[in-house]
Amino acid sequence: MMTVHPERAAGRSEREQPLLAVRGLRKYFPVKGGLFNRSVAMVQAVDEVSFEVREGEVLGIVGESGCGKSTTARLLMRLIEPDAGEVSFDGAAVGTRDGISTKELRRQVQMVFQDSYSSLNPRLPVEDTIAFGPIVHGIGRTEAKERAYRLLGEVGLDPQRFGRRYPHELSGGQRQRINIARALALRPKLVLLDEAVSALDKSVEAQVLNLLLDLKKEFSLTYLFISHDLSVVHHISDRVLVMYLGKIVEIGPVDLVYNCPVHPYTRALLLSRPSMDPGDRKTEPPLSGDPPTPINPPSGCRFRTRCAYAEEVCERIEPTLFELDEHRNHQTACHMAVPGSGHSKAAASTTA
Ligand code: SF4
Repeated sequence: MMTVHPERAAGRSEREQPLLAVRGLRKYFPVKGGLFNRSVAMVQAVDEVSFEVREGEVLGIVGESGCGKSTTARLLMRLIEPDAGEVSFDGAAVGTRDGISTKELRRQVQMVFQDSYSSLNPRLPVEDTIAFGPIVHGIGRTEAKERAYRLLGEVGLDPQRFGRRYPHELSGGQRQRINIARALALRPKLVLLDEAVSALDKSVEAQVLNLLLDLKKEFSLTYLFISHDLSVVHHISDRVLVMYLGKIVEIGPVDLVYNCPVHPYTRALLLSRPSMDPGDRKTEPPLSGDPPTPINPPSGCRFRTRCAYAEEVCERIEPTLFELDEHRNHQTACHMAVPGSGHSKAAASTTA
């Protein structure tokens, strides 16, 4: 069985150094209970997740809620400590003596959250909010304020009109623009956008998405874009990573994955999108039920309890990411795609 070499697991040539490299990231959260409030079980939130993000690209992460996409972002920022795995940024290992410190990582990697209101300090005018990060990182107050004013203009808000306003005086779209300006104030290389447009009205969402694409070009940014909205991810991403119950099930160029999805979960997810076309008949079994609990995930393939193609091998052996197209870096974790895996459909797909 051919598994994916870690160097290629998230799509890069051997020579190219990724901006972000994640290897074997794992996070289990204890579930406390009983008389002494001891750990009685573990929630397997993120399990053996490996991927890379290349400089200048947008990597989208999709999956149902609870699949581990937001936990992955928080692990990358070290807002929570991983149980296992390595993260390196720009070639430097995070949190090691010879690598990059957490403080420096948090300067170079910024995050924008879904809730635009609770991300802002209600007692600070927006210019102070944007200037706060640079001041903490040693930039003089005057320069930090000038930077805040410039950034307000960059995100489409008149600095004179909005600089002294408080978060409660702004709309959701305006607040999210402030959050984006604040994220850019430290001139990061990578921005993690965790459901950053999900709470906005559709018209405002489109404006903010276009703003993100403009800023990406202007500031040479790289994005990790997390969303449950498949259309938005398609619009903004170069590559997409699909997660299910804490694991990566498929990763590849966004057009390839959306047009030729291989993993049954990716196919079901894409087919669950609403269509305005009455002739658009679904040929794939629909995705039914909720994902199983991550406290005690199914053995073998975690998707097998909802998969119409599950066979005995799926229960026995956990599929690993398999290279489907070496040149386009498209991988999936499904026995059906692996020649000789023991799945009855694997042989048919090999000879096709
Ligand atoms: Fe379905 Fe088996 Fe593939 Fe898992 S490995 S997605 S259960 S066919």
